[in-house]
Amino acid sequence: MTKDIINQLGENREDYFNAAIPPIFSNSNFLFSKVDDMRSAMIGKNNIPFYTRGNNPTTKILEQKIAALEKTENAIALSSGMAAISTAILSQVKSGEHMISVNQPYTGTDKFLKEIIPNYGIEVSFVSGEDPLNFSKKIKKNTKIIYLESPNSWTYDMQDLEEISNIAKKNNLITIIDNSYASPINCNPSNWGIDIIIHSATKYIGGHANAMGGIICGSNEIINEIYNSEFKLFGGVLSPFNSWLFINGLRTLKIRMNYISESTPKIVSSLEKNKKIKNIIYPHSKNFNQKKLVKKYLKRPCGQFSIVLNTNDDKKIEGFCNNLNHFKMAASWGGHDSLIFPEIARYNLNSKYYSKTELLPKNYIRFYIGLEDTDLLTKDILDSLDKI
Ligand SMILES: *Cc1c(COP(=O)(O)O)cnc(C)c1O
Repeated sequence: MTKDIINQLGENREDYFNAAIPPIFSNSNFLFSKVDDMRSAMIGKNNIPFYTRGNNPTTKILEQKIAALEKTENAIALSSGMAAISTAILSQVKSGEHMISVNQPYTGTDKFLKEIIPNYGIEVSFVSGEDPLNFSKKIKKNTKIIYLESPNSWTYDMQDLEEISNIAKKNNLITIIDNSYASPINCNPSNWGIDIIIHSATKYIGGHANAMGGIICGSNEIINEIYNSEFKLFGGVLSPFNSWLFINGLRTLKIRMNYISESTPKIVSSLEKNKKIKNIIYPHSKNFNQKKLVKKYLKRPCGQFSIVLNTNDDKKIEGFCNNLNHFKMAASWGGHDSLIFPEIARYNLNSKYYSKTELLPKNYIRFYIGLEDTDLLTKDILDSLDKI
């Protein structure tokens, strides 16, 4: 019998009284009465769990489901998207080696690559991702990784995954992608040969803004290698409770993504001719400049877009954000709530938090469309635009 990934895969209900929902195995230890049994568990024989920093039955269900959704052999769950990103990168590149990253990945990733990675004697080259040849040009003898995020955060720049993965394979490099924007529903980078796929599960996978987590997907070979070293030894494992919340979140992932894929383009199109907006950046809007890549790599529209307001006046920009009623401001996205992240909030922080080159212009505002009524959200934006 083929199992439904979201509702059945990984769930051995007969092992827990046929409960409809898997239990939370919140224990750290698993107990053994015989040395030989303990020894077998230590090497992962017959999937008998040994210790929760490594193998937890609740977390295992989540991992199996996400690996299947991403069409990879295996997956491991970590305590945040950043834990997944840092663990995956440090598993594939060592001191004295070199990696290539697409320009402007997610802010945390960007900072990790610029501020942490060089301290370990690893060199990073950043390239503009629209031309795959930009990656080939930077390949050196000691290059190990090509790091991608497509679409990226804020400006949704895309990369040609197939072309770049072909270049990587010819040069024996590992490709890593942050696939959080698309979710496993709207893009499966493994279809094009990408080796390691990462999600901030905090976003769409959880879907309810109630848990943080991250996922690394890949082949058995890659995942087992990470599992036995960086995963267990950096130790950023996901708590079983969060695994359980993510399993719950996953039940509605497709439905949520389908809803968002219809509501977001509607909202975007009702803003497209507004004079208060200079530009809307959204992969599924008419003027997006990488249409071919959108067609090839994104099955359906997703829930994030950015607007560039037609003003540079701080008061007007902040006024627009403050006057919204339904959209609240927040760092994250992917839950039921519609949110904005105004770039202007990153200005005037009175610290060295962001360098000038890391900031987008002040009039950029990132939108995330959640699960509320579409007309209500549209009206909220239009009303607030009218007031400035
Ligand atoms: C939020 C986010 C991350 C980081 O995930 P956390 O769970 O917050 O650590 C990484 N990449 C993208 C694209 C994100 O939006």
